[in-house]
Amino acid sequence: MNETTRIVIVGAGHAGGSAVALLRQYGWKGTITLIGDEPVPPYQRPPLSKAWLKGEASAESLALRPAKFYADNDVEMRLATTVAAIDRAGRTVTLADGEVLAYDHLILATGARARKLSIPGIDLAGVLELRSAADADKLKAALLPGTRVAIVGGGYIGLEAAASARALGAEVTIIEREARLLARVASTSLSAFFDAFHQEQGVAIELNADVAALEGEGGHVSAVRLADGRAIPCDVALIGVGAIANAELASAAGIDCAGGIRVDLSARTSDASIFAIGDCTHRPLHHYGREHRLESVPNALEQAKQVASALTGRKLPAHEVPWFWSDQYNLKLQIAGLSFDTAETVLRGDPSSNSFAVFHLAADGCLRSVEAVNAASEFMAGKMLIASRKPLARERLADMSVSMKDLL
Ligand code: FAD
Ligand code: NAP
Repeated sequence: MNETTRIVIVGAGHAGGSAVALLRQYGWKGTITLIGDEPVPPYQRPPLSKAWLKGEASAESLALRPAKFYADNDVEMRLATTVAAIDRAGRTVTLADGEVLAYDHLILATGARARKLSIPGIDLAGVLELRSAADADKLKAALLPGTRVAIVGGGYIGLEAAASARALGAEVTIIEREARLLARVASTSLSAFFDAFHQEQGVAIELNADVAALEGEGGHVSAVRLADGRAIPCDVALIGVGAIANAELASAAGIDCAGGIRVDLSARTSDASIFAIGDCTHRPLHHYGREHRLESVPNALEQAKQVASALTGRKLPAHEVPWFWSDQYNLKLQIAGLSFDTAETVLRGDPSSNSFAVFHLAADGCLRSVEAVNAASEFMAGKMLIASRKPLARERLADMSVSMKDLL
């Protein structure tokens, strides 16, 4: 590497912004150009459905780094700029306005976008999604005391937005197609706990409910029509039905993709000079011997470390156990690991106390994942136990008189 070696990063989100900082921290002396289609420097999305929505966070606190960080670290920032194509043979990217930029190493950090529903009424005013700061501003403006919010999708977005909306005095109905909430990311016992908790907070929940259409009056949404014919009246409809990887740029350039851009554990794609990090990737999971797409900040940070290490010739970082968190009301949910190939479940603590953990073990007694609600020690120790692959005695795990430290 010398001072004229060029890194171009496409996507100025959590992964792209973190990669810039780590590259400079690890001693990258070449040029860095960070290109993002949003009009603002990299910011954190997690507060958008939580503190920001409730009016408890400032715009400055959302920023990943202070604005001057990029100038101070000699990073060329191209905001409100979309990359339209990659020419792998010529090692260039073409911007939407036709400008061509050359790279030696390209990092794709294009993230994911909210899945759209193809149903009548989806373009009505008052039908919102929540992915960007601009989306969050629209939702925040609509959430007033008494506003009737219909939330389509009972995943992370749906539940976090429901909790924030209740805090603001809005009336909330969650409409979920599956038989339980958080079906993609959590066990049945955890789903049942969150279902009961949200109902206690006054949220109405419709499960096994397919949305047939959004209906409007005067061009503005007024109801969600379900496939069984019922109508849920609303002033605002928030659609939170999952995220799709922004992998089209890569696949159009012939880079190997599988529901995300396929990478190895140094975040390298099938093209040796192109890397990909964050929500847009389909990545190997060291602890689980398989590939998967992860949609989380810890994953964006881990892969930013991988690419920065690979490009600066450092040893690759240790393999992390995937982890996730979600804040709803006074509940802190922390999940370590993934529930692949599990054979039994162990409950530790009492869900009625709002502090408990659900451990998922493989047939050999090794821990695969832990779901902890207001139970930080169980989460921390669980993360270490997953990495250690040590078989556990289920009785000791369930016994609150045995400390998590003793189980390590
Ligand atoms: P993104 O942050 O999506 O950034 C990608 C950027 O690339 C975007 O700005 C996009 O517009 C831009 N881009 C795409 N294509 C192009 C192109 N062709 N040219 C230029 N720019 C392009 N995760 C957690 O771990 N915990 C949480 O509590 C949590 N809460 C969340 C709450 C909300 C409301 C949302 C939306 C997400 C939340 N997440 C949470 C998920 C987390 O924010 C993502 O996993 C993380 O942002 C991924 O970072 P990324 O850089 O890969 O993608
Ligand atoms: P999600 O967690 O995948 O949940 C979407 C839910 O909507 C799923 O249960 C899905 O069910 C359901 N659904 C899909 N189509 C539906 C339909 N037509 N009608 C009703 N329900 C439907 O995705 P999300 O909540 O939209 O979140 C989007 C992204 O933001 C994800 O990357 C997520 O990880 C991220 N995020 C993370 C956090 C966090 O980590 N705390 C917080 C907010 C957002 P099916 O399984 O049947 O499709």
